[in-house]
Order: sequence, then C-alpha cells, then structure tokens
Amino acid sequence: MKRTIFTLSCLFLISGPAAAMDQKQQPELTEVWEPEPAIVTPGERGAPPSDAIVLFDGHDLSAWRANAGEPGWVVEDGIVTVKPGSGNIETRQPFGDVQLHIEWRTPGVVESEGQGRGNSGVFLMGLYEVQVLDSFQNRTYSNGQAASIYKQHIPLVNASRGPGEWQAYDIVFKAPLFSSEGFLQRPAFLTVFHNGVLVQNHVELGGPTVYAGQPQYQPHSPKLPLMLQEHSNPTSFRNIWIREL
Ligand code: MG
Repeated sequence: MKRTIFTLSCLFLISGPAAAMDQKQQPELTEVWEPEPAIVTPGERGAPPSDAIVLFDGHDLSAWRANAGEPGWVVEDGIVTVKPGSGNIETRQPFGDVQLHIEWRTPGVVESEGQGRGNSGVFLMGLYEVQVLDSFQNRTYSNGQAASIYKQHIPLVNASRGPGEWQAYDIVFKAPLFSSEGFLQRPAFLTVFHNGVLVQNHVELGGPTVYAGQPQYQPHSPKLPLMLQEHSNPTSFRNIWIREL
C-alpha cells in the first residue's frame, strides 16, 4: 500500500492531476471493434431469426426420426401432435450448446390430473428434460411441474396458461463438458423462459434426467439429438427452431 501511494504521488507530481484524469477518461481506450457481430434478422413474434435451424415449420417431420424409423406423431393444420404409444421423436441433427424456441399445447379437454395431464418433455441432447405439463390449477410435485428441470429444479414461478392454450419455451442450454478420459469438466446449465417469463435462471444440472434416484453424469459426445417425449398424452407442438451457440 505504501509503495502504491508513493508511486501515485510521483505520477501526480510529474504529470499533474489533469493529465492523469484525461488519460483515464478517454472513451476510445475502452472501445472494442473486433469482432463485429454477424447480422441476424430477428423473427416477428416468435418466428425464427434468419440464422435459426427450423426443426418444425408446420409442414412435416423431415428433421425428425423415431427409434424405429419414421415418427408416428400426427402432423395436421400446421401442428404436430403426440400419438400415444408411438414413442419419442428426436432430431436427425445432433446439437450441443443451443438456443431453442418451441411452442406447445396440452389437450383442451382435461382428462387426468398430476403427471397425467398433457405430459411431454423437451430433452436437450435426449438426456436433460425441461418438463412439459398442464400445470394450470393442477398440483403435482414442484420439481415435476411445467418448466421444471425434471426432478432437479423447481421453476421460479408458475407461468402456465390454461389447457388447450398455446405456450412457449425459450431455452438456453449449455452442454456439459467431459475430458478425453471421461471426467466431467463442466456441468450442463439451463435457462428457461416460459411464455416470456424467466423460470430457470442458469441452473446447474446434476446429470441426465432420471425418474428415480439421483442424477449422475456419464460421458457422452459433445452433440446429441434433441428429443421430444411421448408420455401417452396427445400434447401438440408448433414453431420449433434452434440456434447453435
Ligand atoms: Mg415429461
């Protein structure tokens, strides 16, 4: 500390207070010009921006596959609906760090309760689930309701719309990182907006989603397909796009 004070006093004597102040306040010194961000044309009202990969635009499931060949989900009137019993679907393309926009709608006719009401799920890398559920006046365990990171993180608030209404998730996913020896170097992180409301704020994941027990990381490749869950309920989706980060 003494040395710093001495040095500062010397500077003060040599150049005077005005010069020292001038240098500090030159705004150009803190301007950064490179790199220049790429130009992206934003979409209107949830429509994909110009650099997005469109995964479903209402026409077909050509970007998707099922475990046993072609997906059995039903495409009609610009939306795709889970066909109970037909299994999960996943993207043909694998992804790592992404921004994802997806709109979903649980059935307008309420037939069940708890986890049985419009249950589906957005599985980043096919492993890490953001829960899809009709959580409008439908109590279930908090870390299993809509916009929870299933069995890991409770959403900050319940921003659910009612059954039969369209809802949206905007998700930022940071994939986990493994060393070449298979050790976890950095866990996965998720940020989620539900109908524009922040519900998961850069939360750390303990590992892949599991129904019972504690999650535990297993090394996997840096890019894996995005998966949508078939959970016996005819939940619908539309306007699905993704940006690799
Ligand atoms: Mg689910």
